[in-house]
Amino acid sequence: MKTAEIAGGGIGGLAMAALLAQAGWKVRVHERHDSIREIGAGIYIKNNSIEVLDAIGAFERMRPEGLELERAQIRFADGSIRQERRLAGLSRVHVFPRQSVVEALRDTAIAAGAEIVTGSTVASATADGTLVTANRETLKADLVVGADGVNSAVRTSMGIASRFRLLPTIIDRFLVESREFTREPMTVEHWSGNRRIGVTPSGPKHTYVYMVAPERDAVARKLPLDVADWSARFPKLAGLMALLGRSEATQFNYGLVDCAHWSRGRVAILGDAAHGLPPTLGQGAGLTLINAYALAHYLRANDDVPAALAAWERDVRFISDRTQAWAVRYDWFTRQWPTQLDVMRPLVTWAFGRIRFLNDRMRIADQGLRPANIEIARI
Ligand SMILES: Cc1cc2nc3c(=O)[nH]c(=O)nc-3n(C[C@H](O)[C@H](O)[C@H](O)COP(=O)(O)OP(=O)(O)OC[C@H]3O[C@@H](n4cnc5c(N)ncnc54)[C@H](O)[C@@H]3O)c2cc1C
Repeated sequence: MKTAEIAGGGIGGLAMAALLAQAGWKVRVHERHDSIREIGAGIYIKNNSIEVLDAIGAFERMRPEGLELERAQIRFADGSIRQERRLAGLSRVHVFPRQSVVEALRDTAIAAGAEIVTGSTVASATADGTLVTANRETLKADLVVGADGVNSAVRTSMGIASRFRLLPTIIDRFLVESREFTREPMTVEHWSGNRRIGVTPSGPKHTYVYMVAPERDAVARKLPLDVADWSARFPKLAGLMALLGRSEATQFNYGLVDCAHWSRGRVAILGDAAHGLPPTLGQGAGLTLINAYALAHYLRANDDVPAALAAWERDVRFISDRTQAWAVRYDWFTRQWPTQLDVMRPLVTWAFGRIRFLNDRMRIADQGLRPANIEIARI
């Protein structure tokens, strides 16, 4: 029986654990926190994520806790609709509270036989398949997976040329227990200058709101929220702003990971550790999940673990690279677009939404692993 040690009990590590355990591997996940937990926010689970979650049997488990969206709109602050997309087929989207996603993955991995060790921090790994914990435990395996997020200790300790940098865009996220402002199954992104507010139902009971602004915007950075200022910028959302002013939020900068290689010897780097990207396309988890599925696929086809890892990166990485590049462009467009050119913004927005060629390139990840000729099937 082949063995795997996985650093990180987030979406990537847990999905990888489920996939390998279902393929008959002996798997152990190390999570530094004392439980499997996510921040209080929602998450868009798009077609590619759903295909993988379905293949491992997690989607049915979590489905009741999410909500399927019918449409996505971009509106300007005056309420005018500037772009509308129907969310069906390869563009389907469900929204979940994040905790529901990791719990479904945790339960699926455990049901398949994986072991999850919480309170276990990984310090380093070496290419021969050794993982070392902060308690100086040395564990040998056929495969080590570094799914330990943007600051990956595995990636850094392996000496893989990489860089994690923060981008000058901030995002506040809220998950409120109310559907007062999101009665319809649709997500709306409201734009006002360089600020954006996304509002979407997140499951039957919650609303997920994200608020994005350039880091240089000192008023937008304030938490608790400056309700008067945000309401002046988004008058149609004044009621929602009052609710958010009384709610808890988490604030992050967008981040970007450049990682020269996704594997060395018996060690694979997965998820945000390999390709952390601004969340402008809502695709970080989607890429993480398709890359986990593809890795399991190559490991099934090839007994030689280092060779399987090399083939995996060679054949599927381009989907993540292209998505990451578009996510960075989108961030630039929304953060840096000069206000003097605001009159042209609807045209550019329209072009992104309507010109098929642009949209297909930007949304390559929606297609799952089709661009790499891999079918995602139920395991
Ligand atoms: C603001 C924002 C919004 C987003 N929205 C979406 C969205 O709507 N849709 C979407 O698809 N994606 C979205 N993403 C991206 C998505 O959240 C990530 O791509 C995804 O969570 C990556 O999963 P991961 O398992 O690779 O990393 P993480 O979620 O970072 O998990 C890493 C895990 O490893 C653990 N860990 C870290 N270091 C160690 C260590 N040394 N030892 C042991 N454990 C360790 C951490 O505690 C954590 O549990 C968003 C991201 C951000 C920042």
